Amino acid sequence: MDEKRKIEKVYGFPEILTEKKAHFCPGCSHGIMTKVISEAIGEMGLEDSSIGVYGAGCAAIMYDYINIKGVAAPPGGAVGIATGIKSAGKGSLVFAYQGEGDLFYGLSSLIGAGVRGEGITIICENNLNMGISGGAMSPATPVGVMTTTSPQGRHIASYGAPVSIAEMLKDIKGIKYIARCSTHSPGAVRKTKSIIKKAFELQLYGEGTAFIEALGMCPTNMHLTPVEAALKIREVYGELQTGEIKHP
Ligand code: SF4
Repeated sequence: MDEKRKIEKVYGFPEILTEKKAHFCPGCSHGIMTKVISEAIGEMGLEDSSIGVYGAGCAAIMYDYINIKGVAAPPGGAVGIATGIKSAGKGSLVFAYQGEGDLFYGLSSLIGAGVRGEGITIICENNLNMGISGGAMSPATPVGVMTTTSPQGRHIASYGAPVSIAEMLKDIKGIKYIARCSTHSPGAVRKTKSIIKKAFELQLYGEGTAFIEALGMCPTNMHLTPVEAALKIREVYGELQTGEIKHP
């Protein structure tokens, strides 16, 4: 057969992604992240050795869609639980997946894990609001973005300046890898997958804590259509440092 006419499979349904109907809102980034994480684990052959810890809020239901061992954590508890699981089960790939609201609830355990250089991967889906609190402003909500507690849009005079999550963690020595990515476009999603695979790889090589901030859409709490929400995230993404911010 002519080499040029061979059919090559370039895309498929990730084997560990369950066929259940997802309950995320249309256009929600948690659905995209579910698929991307599934693909990364499958492509790395880590289906049997991966354990996911899912933070409270909308992120929690990811456990229902990825067919690996997993735990749903109470508010703010994802990183602490991931740390315990990693300590108890050497050889496993352990990741915590949480929204930024849940991350701020559990900030002290995140800092503690980073200071100790725990060998876990923390993936934070930053959708500019605290879905866990019904769409309230989070410390990371950018200036101008409307939330239920900043209905006129965040402004510095009343709410203070937003926190840049990735940069906030940069000085913690045990966090060896920090990256910021996004899910607002197909190209951004591909980049996100490569960043997740890199962070997983570093965990397998014992390179300390890895942290990924993935910007994403929450059309429901942003009161935007899925396309408008993606455009908003593209705008925010364009104003921040992206890609690998720190690596070993
Ligand atoms: S409320 Fe937002 S974060 Fe939660 S499922 Fe809907 S779009 Fe996703």
